[in-house]
Amino acid sequence: MDAMIESMIVIDEQGRIEQANKATTVMFGYPRDELIGANVAMLMPGSDGKRHDQYLDRYNRTGRKRIIGTGREVQALRKDGSEFPADIAVGEIRSQGIVRYVGLIRDLTSQRQAEEQALRQREEMVNVSRLSMMGEMAAAMAHELNQPLTAIANFAAASIRLLHQNPEANLQDVLEALSDIYNQAHRAGEVIRRTRSFTRNSEVERRVMDLPTIVAQVRSLAQLDAKANNIQLHWDIPADLPTIEVDAVQIQQVMLNLVRNAVDAMEETLPAHRRIDVRALLTAPHEIRIEVRDQGKGVSPEVSKQIFNAFFTTKSLGMGMGLAICRTIVRTHGGELGFRNNEADNVAAGATFYFTLPTQVKG
Ligand code: ADP
Repeated sequence: MDAMIESMIVIDEQGRIEQANKATTVMFGYPRDELIGANVAMLMPGSDGKRHDQYLDRYNRTGRKRIIGTGREVQALRKDGSEFPADIAVGEIRSQGIVRYVGLIRDLTSQRQAEEQALRQREEMVNVSRLSMMGEMAAAMAHELNQPLTAIANFAAASIRLLHQNPEANLQDVLEALSDIYNQAHRAGEVIRRTRSFTRNSEVERRVMDLPTIVAQVRSLAQLDAKANNIQLHWDIPADLPTIEVDAVQIQQVMLNLVRNAVDAMEETLPAHRRIDVRALLTAPHEIRIEVRDQGKGVSPEVSKQIFNAFFTTKSLGMGMGLAICRTIVRTHGGELGFRNNEADNVAAGATFYFTLPTQVKG
C-alpha cells in the first residue's frame, strides 16, 4: 500500500479509517496516527463530510449505491484547511460478515493546472494569431495601396507641370494622366474593398480561369516596369494549361511582386544579361507551376533564412512584406511559394522564384 502514489484508505461501516497508506499522509497532510480511527468525513470539505455519514448510513441500511463501484470527482480537504480536486473510486470488501470500504484517491491538482494552462495557451494563441492576422492585413493594405498612391501622385505632379507649361498644347497628355489617376484610384478602392470582404468572411473571390487570361492583365504593367529598367521580359505561358480556380487579382499581385523583386535584384546586372523569364508549366497532373527567373544577385544563405519573414528587406526603400504576403496568398490557394538560386554555388547566376497552384479538378 505504501508503494502506491495514490492515496488508499480503508474505512469500516461507520466511516472510521482503519488503514491509510503513506500517500494519504502526504496528500492530506495528516500523520498516520491522526488518520487511523478518525471519521473519513474530516477529509471532505463542509457539508460533503456530513452528507458522507448519511450516505454510508443509508447504504448500510438499504444497499442503495451512490459512489461504490464507480468513480467520481470530488473536492478533498487537507489538514491545513485547503482544498484540492480529487478523483475517488470506492470499492466494497465483505469478508466474514464484516463490511469495509476501500477508497482510492488521486490528486487532480496538477492535471487541473495543466488543463487550465492549456486552455489559457489556446486562448492566447487565438489572440496572437488574430493580432498577427490584423497586423499582416494592415501591412498588406499599406503595401498594396502604396503602388496606386505613388502612381496617382506622379500623374498628378506631371499634370500640374504640363498645365503650367502650356495648357492647350498639353491637354491630351493631361487627359491621359487624369484617366490614369482615375484607374489607379479605382484600383486602390478595389484593394480596400477586397480587404474588407477578406476580413468579413475570409473567403476570397475565386473563379475558374485560365492562366493566359490572368497573365494578359498584368503583362503590360510588368513590361513597363522591366522596360524602365532596361530589362527584357520574356513570357512563356502555354495556352493549353488546365484551368485554375483563383482570385485573379491576388494571383496577379503575386506575379507582379515576383517580377518587381526580379527587377530589383538585377540593379547591377550587365546589359547583356538583363533578362527575366516568366514561364508556366504543368509539373504534376494537378499542379501548375509559375516561375520567374532572373539574372540578378541571387539569394545568399543569410537572406534565404529570413526571406519570407514579414518586414525583412535588404532594400533601402523596401517594406519586406511582398514575399510574406505572396506566400500567404499562394498558400490560401492550396499552392506553395519557393525559390532557388539558378546555380547552386553561384549566386551571381541569379535566382528563380516560383509558385504552384492546384489545377481545377472537374467534378
Ligand atoms: P521587399 O521587396 O520590400 O524587400 P520582399 O518580401 O518582396 O520585400 O523581399 C524580401 C527580400 O528578399 C528582398 O529585400 C531581397 O533581399 C530578397 N529577394 C526577393 N526577391 C529576390 C530575387 N529575385 N533575387 C534576390 N533576392 C530577392
